[in-house]
Formats: sequence, C-alpha cells, structure tokens
Amino acid sequence: MIIVKSDSELDAMRRVNQMTARVRDALAAHVKPGITTLALGNLAQTMIREAGGVSAFYGYHGFSGQICTSVNDEVVHGIPGGRILKEGDIVSIDTGISYGGFIGDTAVTVAVGEISAEKQRLLDVTKASLHAGIAKAVEGNRLGDISHAIQTVVEAAGFTIVRDFVGHGIGRSMHEDPQIPNFGKPGRGPVLKAGMTLAIEPMVNMGGAKVSVLDDKWTVVTKDGSASAHFEHTIAVGKIAAEILTIA
Ligand code: MG
Repeated sequence: MIIVKSDSELDAMRRVNQMTARVRDALAAHVKPGITTLALGNLAQTMIREAGGVSAFYGYHGFSGQICTSVNDEVVHGIPGGRILKEGDIVSIDTGISYGGFIGDTAVTVAVGEISAEKQRLLDVTKASLHAGIAKAVEGNRLGDISHAIQTVVEAAGFTIVRDFVGHGIGRSMHEDPQIPNFGKPGRGPVLKAGMTLAIEPMVNMGGAKVSVLDDKWTVVTKDGSASAHFEHTIAVGKIAAEILTIA
C-alpha cells in the first residue's frame, strides 16, 4: 500500500530531507583527490550528529557505513573505507538520515578533480534522467510514467539502466511501497496521488546493465567494469508538479 502523507507528515519529511540535502552537498564539496571514502564517512557522522539526526544506513541490515560511497565501477552500497580518491574518479555519495520519525534519502555522483568527457556525460545524463522522472511525479500519472521517462533519457544517450536495484517509497521507513524501477512502460502501475513521497534513484552504467555484489556482501559493481553513476532525490508527488524535498 502506498502511503499518502498528511500535511504535518509532509512538513516532517521536508525537515529531514532538507537536512539530508545539506549534508549531501557539504560532503560533495569535500571530494578531492587524496581524500579517503572513510574520511567522507567520518565527516558525514559529525555533520549528521550536529544536525540532530542519525544515519539511516548505519546498522541497516548490518551496514557498517554512515553513508554509501561508490567509486567508478561501483554502482551503489559501497562502504566507506581506506580507498583514496584519485583525479579522474567519480564517486556516488548516498546519504540517508533519520530525524523526527522520518527518513531523508538522496545521492549525488561527484567528479574527483578533472574527469573524462565520457564520464561527465554519464553524470549529466543520469542527473537529467532523474529530473525527467521527477517531472512525471504528478497526481493522476502512473508510476510507469516515471520509470519510462528515466529509461528514455538514459537509453537515448547510449547508456544502460541497472535493473536489479530500484527506487522506493519513503517516509517513516526508508523503504515503503512502491518499488520504483528505472525502466518500464508508460501508463502502467499505480496511479500517483499528491502526498505520496518517493525516492527516485536511477543507476546508470556506461557499458552493460549487468551488476554483481562483491564479497563484502554490499558493494554493487558493474559486471563489465564500466563506470556507473547514481543520482537520487526524495520527492513528494504534487497536484501540478512534484516537490523535491532533498533541496538544501
Ligand atoms: Mg534510496
């Protein structure tokens, strides 16, 4: 069942998601050659604590990071550690915060120093696909309209959509109904209603769509080693337009 949030619940979602967006942006600003992903995780811990929240990822099914950091061919769910970011890398920073009984969830993929033109195009297309999906998150549309809009942008650019991981409803829990695939047919699936809150998160590969999970049981990587990007906003379905809740 897809939960429609009340006005007071939407206010609580605005607060936690704005907090999450601020942490996301501050972390992104710290990305530079020479920093480790663990240093980003530690910064996240400090910033989240100072904001009065708690990481929504730490301890989730035993996840040991404060955030997810996924570098180059890592798609999502990378665990912060000793890896040193180098010039030319891209790193997805996925931030989730619990505050006031609700969850915020957002991700951005950031260039480390100068990156190749093709990696920049991957970032641009993935971000554009997210916004194409968000543009469909309007009352009366169907869930498949969001999925299809994302897929169309990605495939027109010659990239591929990861199919094994999807976006999700979000609210008091990080993962609520519905699942939101980043591919699908328009006009299919549940009808969207104002007040539904959704985390939309395309994961886009430069090469093939297939992925596997590393021995750490978390880090998802592309099978062919190609680079992957991930952008995520938590939004509220609106009557005329979606409201992006993860705006700092
Ligand atoms: Mg998410």
